[in-house]
Amino acid sequence: MNRPERQSDETLTQPRMVACIECGCLSGLAWAGWRAYRVDDPEYDARPALAFYCPGCAAAEFGHD
Ligand SMILES: [Zn+2]
Repeated sequence: MNRPERQSDETLTQPRMVACIECGCLSGLAWAGWRAYRVDDPEYDARPALAFYCPGCAAAEFGHD
């Protein structure tokens, strides 16, 4: 299984479909309600990294809008 936070820069900026980092469900192509967060630590990792959360996990982790 690919880790979405370690895609190349090209796919990182325009991801087509990703898996939720929490529950592993797939975004599909619509991305409705999905959120992406930077998870890299510039102290230890110079490469940008993103973590993707499905609507349910995003609400559980970060609260509702
Ligand atoms: Zn999820």
